[in-house]
Amino acid sequence: MKTEVLILGGGPGGYTAAFRAADLGKQVILVERYPIIGGVCLNVGCIPSKSLLHIAGVINESKEVNISGIRFDKPEIDLDGLREWKNKVTTQLTTGLSGLAKQRKVDVVQGFGQFISKNKLVVEHNDETFEVDFEQAVIAVGSKPVKIPGFPYHDSRLMDSTDALNLEDIPEKLLIIGGGIIGLEMATVYSALGSNITVVEMQNQIIPGCDKDLVRPLMQRIKKKYDNILLSTRVESIEVKNEGLNVSFSGDNPEQLFDKVLVAVGRVPNGQLIDADKAGIKVDEKGFIQVNKKQQTNVDNIYAIGDVVGNPMLAHKAVHEGKVAAEVIAGLSSEWQALTIPSVAYTDPEIAWMGLTENQAKEQGIDYEKGAFPWAASGRSLSIGRKEGITKILSDKLTGRILGAGITGTNAGELISEAVLALEMGANVEDLALTIHPHPTLSETLGFSAEMIEGTITDLFPKKK
Ligand code: NAD
Repeated sequence: MKTEVLILGGGPGGYTAAFRAADLGKQVILVERYPIIGGVCLNVGCIPSKSLLHIAGVINESKEVNISGIRFDKPEIDLDGLREWKNKVTTQLTTGLSGLAKQRKVDVVQGFGQFISKNKLVVEHNDETFEVDFEQAVIAVGSKPVKIPGFPYHDSRLMDSTDALNLEDIPEKLLIIGGGIIGLEMATVYSALGSNITVVEMQNQIIPGCDKDLVRPLMQRIKKKYDNILLSTRVESIEVKNEGLNVSFSGDNPEQLFDKVLVAVGRVPNGQLIDADKAGIKVDEKGFIQVNKKQQTNVDNIYAIGDVVGNPMLAHKAVHEGKVAAEVIAGLSSEWQALTIPSVAYTDPEIAWMGLTENQAKEQGIDYEKGAFPWAASGRSLSIGRKEGITKILSDKLTGRILGAGITGTNAGELISEAVLALEMGANVEDLALTIHPHPTLSETLGFSAEMIEGTITDLFPKKK
């Protein structure tokens, strides 16, 4: 096979690069090892987890609404039905993608690709191999879950995120190793379905990259719901027993038997699986491939995007990078110029943040101002039965320019986009404070936080300037 542009990997980054390159007139072959494109995100990540988190939200709300005098019966859980529905959502999207590839005449080829040279890839599928000659290539091979050495992976009761999303059963006692985004999202799902959850996190805070005040409302809520949240703790060993997995922890925590254990301690890039050295591409010891702002590797005709080029490993980052790579290949003068990549934990409550965190502002000695609006003072938040949220904005003390923002509460993941736009447009707090937000909405809380910095807030008693 011969092509102008080869894309290796069909996740959100890869298919975006393929589609954009095709739209810009390039001949494109996309090589993907699985029979369907969409990658981890669509098949075993973002989309199935969000489908299940939606159901978890409905279950939780139907319980919590009882304070309003409305009572629902305990839900009947048909696990096969739930799995089928989740798979239907995913299939609808991946089928749509295949259709989009056909419309664009992107040739999707199944097989595992490895470089032979800087212009040739060998693809293996079902014991057959064939070669693809290419002029330019984009590596979009993603990442895989970290495995902790010594754990009994042969036992199906030890799960990674893909296994957890398969919903084989609802374990009575579930241990989640890693209090990061995957761990806490899956905890939200399994807790709503009825599992008793223990989370073990080696740092002294869940979601360690996030500011403590944003994490606090989630921590307070799950502390009441879950059996245990062990911070600054490691799992020392897991012993396989007939009746469960026996886990011992560091510190003076007693050993415990769990029905299932989910390991969610991060992901590692797939850079070492593709024989990159045969094309002369440098891959570091962790498996990352370094690129410049145009997504070019050290080899002039080969680009890389997504998880394999570095953290954060997020689909929206990969998509943006995919567009940059395709446009540069097509001769446009694109490069990475985004000022921030927002993060969202789709937990209950959701946590979203962008730009500078307060921890980073302190570490970097930045002179900042902070406006933090508690959702207990938001009419909209109270009317949906929730009061634990918080919206905070950080601005430059001298210029008032927005530096960062964080939101914890219902729909935080949707609300954060306004702050991202404000940062990208170079807005200052006055711009946000003078923007008329519809009332009553949760989006108002961004305006209120800006008003708190401005000293013009009337929905709370303003701090003296
Ligand atoms: P993560 O890095 O977000 O969290 C892993 C957590 O495990 C960290 O808090 C870490 O301190 C802890 N940890 C590491 N080793 C440990 C050990 N031995 N014992 C106990 N705790 C340990 O990684 P993740 O949750 O596995 O997610 C992987 C990647 O996927 C991340 O880059 C994440 O951003 C991305 N992801 C994003 C979303 C989203 O955007 N909503 C959802 C899922 C995953």
